[in-house]
Amino acid sequence: METKYVYFFGNGKADGKAELKDILGGKGANLAEIANMGIPVPPGFTITSEACDFYFSNNKNYPDELKCQVDENLAKIEKIMGARFGDEENPLLLSVRSGARVSMPGMMDTILNIGLNEDTVRGLAKQIKNERFAYDSYRRFIQMYGKTAMGMPGEMFEKLLEDKKRQKGLTLDMEIPTEDLKDLIQRMTTTIKETGMECSPDPGTQLWKAISAVFESWDTPRAIAYRAANDIPHTWGTAVNVQAMVFGNMGDRSGTGVVFSRDPSTGERKLFGEFMRNAQGEDLVAGFRIPQPISDLADFMPQCYRELSNISQRLERHFKDLQDIEFTIQDGKLWILQTRTGKRSAQAAVKVAIDMVREKLISGKEALGYITPRDIEQLLHPTLDSTMEKKVIATGLPASPGVVSGKIIFDPQELVQVTQKHGDDFILVRNETSADDFPGISAAAGLLTVRGGTTSHAAVVTRGMGKTCIVGATAINIDTVREEFIAGNKVFRKGDYITLDGNEGEVIAGKLPIIAFKPSRDLEELLVWTDLAKRLKVMVNADNPQDARLARELGAEGLGLCRTEHMFFQPNRIDYFRTIIISEDTADKEKALKKLLLIQRAEFEQIFEQMEGLPVIIRLLDPPLHEFLPLPYAEDELGTLSKRLGIPFGRLREKVGELHESNPMLGHRGCRLGITSPEIYQMQVRAIMGAACELSNRGFRVFPEIMLPLIAHVEELKFLRDIVANTCQQVKEEMGAEGLSYKIGVMIELPRAALIADELAKFADFFSFGTNDLTQATLGISRDDHGTFMPFYLDKGILRANPFATLDETGVGELIKMAVERGRKTKPDLEIGICGEHGGDPKSIEFFDKVGLDYVSCSVYRVPVARLAAARVAITQKA
Ligand code: ADP
Ligand code: MG
Ligand code: MG
Repeated sequence: METKYVYFFGNGKADGKAELKDILGGKGANLAEIANMGIPVPPGFTITSEACDFYFSNNKNYPDELKCQVDENLAKIEKIMGARFGDEENPLLLSVRSGARVSMPGMMDTILNIGLNEDTVRGLAKQIKNERFAYDSYRRFIQMYGKTAMGMPGEMFEKLLEDKKRQKGLTLDMEIPTEDLKDLIQRMTTTIKETGMECSPDPGTQLWKAISAVFESWDTPRAIAYRAANDIPHTWGTAVNVQAMVFGNMGDRSGTGVVFSRDPSTGERKLFGEFMRNAQGEDLVAGFRIPQPISDLADFMPQCYRELSNISQRLERHFKDLQDIEFTIQDGKLWILQTRTGKRSAQAAVKVAIDMVREKLISGKEALGYITPRDIEQLLHPTLDSTMEKKVIATGLPASPGVVSGKIIFDPQELVQVTQKHGDDFILVRNETSADDFPGISAAAGLLTVRGGTTSHAAVVTRGMGKTCIVGATAINIDTVREEFIAGNKVFRKGDYITLDGNEGEVIAGKLPIIAFKPSRDLEELLVWTDLAKRLKVMVNADNPQDARLARELGAEGLGLCRTEHMFFQPNRIDYFRTIIISEDTADKEKALKKLLLIQRAEFEQIFEQMEGLPVIIRLLDPPLHEFLPLPYAEDELGTLSKRLGIPFGRLREKVGELHESNPMLGHRGCRLGITSPEIYQMQVRAIMGAACELSNRGFRVFPEIMLPLIAHVEELKFLRDIVANTCQQVKEEMGAEGLSYKIGVMIELPRAALIADELAKFADFFSFGTNDLTQATLGISRDDHGTFMPFYLDKGILRANPFATLDETGVGELIKMAVERGRKTKPDLEIGICGEHGGDPKSIEFFDKVGLDYVSCSVYRVPVARLAAARVAITQKA
């Protein structure tokens, strides 16, 4: 049987459906789906991405059966439209449109008005009784076909068009009179001929060349860059949609536009979008003319507006998601050209999801599929401090929310280069953007355009990337030669700082302070559903009562890592600690230990109080001691310290020198400190258990867990476990809190610990993977010094992601898996979690769920991100 490469749609029925996105592409599959629903779609057919695959793997040849299938389906279109492709009296015109599995806005090519030549254009003019329109379409065809199918530089045509307008003193394309259009077409064809090529007059040739051009557009550098940035496989290929043209450029009762079923910036439930009268598709996307808001359509064509609103709502109910809809009105008749899931801001994602739950369109758990961990990350981004004075230099349309400060830059290519060299933030300032600017936009911290509306290329692309963007800031006047812009009467040069407030659409002079976020009610409500869906617990890494409290508000289910040394670093405390590690006077030492005991105990009390009812895992002293001391050659600092501590200068310098290590990360730290100076660990345990007993006696439910860092040998654990357990017992007895239970566990952060996990489990109540150190030790890459080579590794594809941000699953992950298995073999109910940076990384969280950890612990602001990530992985696992 021959392969079906072509799927028809139109007139209330279609061969395809939405589920066939893999072969029909998103555009084709949805056109089929909505044609089946009876939505007015110009008839057409989709050539599958399997044909694209065939094309590329067979030396750019088509499968044999394709020609015949295309002819058959073309005949169907002709029948419905009552016109014939290539007919000189009544020609059918076609569009040839790209459409990959997932939308890649503006990345690939589309050619409109195919089928026009000197003869058919006359036929079209007569048939429609509108000569100007016919020649306008022809002019567009030559431009698009010349650029896309023949590979001529687009500027060549743009220049001819601009020259013509200047010569006639016109500003808009639509004002060019018919005779001048004819002349322009003449000039364009001559220019093409001068290059030794010809724009084929044969409609069949045009069609097949256009189909090849769309296939080829899958392989352009910009499309490749977009896929790389969005994790889209290069093997998918694109489908091609061949469709009857409908004309928005037929006069004042015609037009074209884009609407969203809800506001993609705020999520508000109302028809949102814009349209342009007497225009064809590309006019709107290019952003050369400022479009009108869609509400204007209600005034000037109320019937069309109502129909569009109804269709928008029908589509939204059908697809159960916010829709991004392209439409064209031809002489008062509405046609839908495309519908897809609308890209939206993080803020809108949350509002749309929770509103759709309230509207009973989706369930709460389903709603979690409508927001991504990345959305939450963005919502946790700061906003502008409203109490600060600001100087607004221009306002535009808030196309993509967020606040960002950065240096002005005008050239997208230069931007790519400078960001590779310096880590600085840049704001790309352009009149408008096109698909070629994609790499520059990717590298920018924010985007500002002078022209364009909220559905322009710049707006759509940045919203998808979650990048702050303001468009249509018309008060800005760019001088690309001098690399500056004028706003008001002030000059802003390349390298000057500006701030974009993408929530308000304000461009502000200078760099402004930004403040931390507060979760919205909607977000909180949505996140409640994560608790019903997820298996992993989410805990927080917090070192003080304030963070513990905030984390709890954000949904933390316990404290997974409290780093006790942070309590020593404050100026009024550090000298006590220095005395403990340096002084040779036992009395002084004891006094300092007592002081610190009281300080730590008070702080633990507050932390336990904030975490009432939840586990609190406290790690005993971990960092190398030199971190608490001045450098051995810092004479001045040593001098004052010697006076403060009453230790002779020479002796102090000697001692500091002794503690200085050439490789401190592998030195005297972690449990090694506890073994050489047990009095420090004893003091810490006294503080922890003292606080816990005190609160327990006062009726609080506390769950202290004491964690030993950097264990590599079971003997280390046995040695310290005895000390810790004895101290705990003593404190409990002293305080009369015998009933209080506690746990003693091991931090697994050295490969050797993972290897002997079965042994360790005999003496540990819990494991917690310290993946920062475990990554460092397994890869032999310093946590602190990899900036010089990591970018190369990533750029050359030697590493796919920074292993300190996303867990190295094949290496470090294997150790984790093994340690979990071995540990649980000894102790099936061993509590196991992870407390490194990876605990807040969505991709790593998937892995932690898979290997059966009990919890992830992450920094405060990542708690909501981790909750969502954990819920989403649980949901997909069930499905
Ligand atoms: P993209 O994927 O870049 O949005 P499209 O295939 O949707 O590309 O085409 C770009 C524009 O061309 C659309 O916005 C639409 O206005 C116009 N267009 C495409 N097909 C037709 C058609 N059959 N009739 C009229 N306009 C069309
Ligand atoms: Mg489109
Ligand atoms: Mg560590």
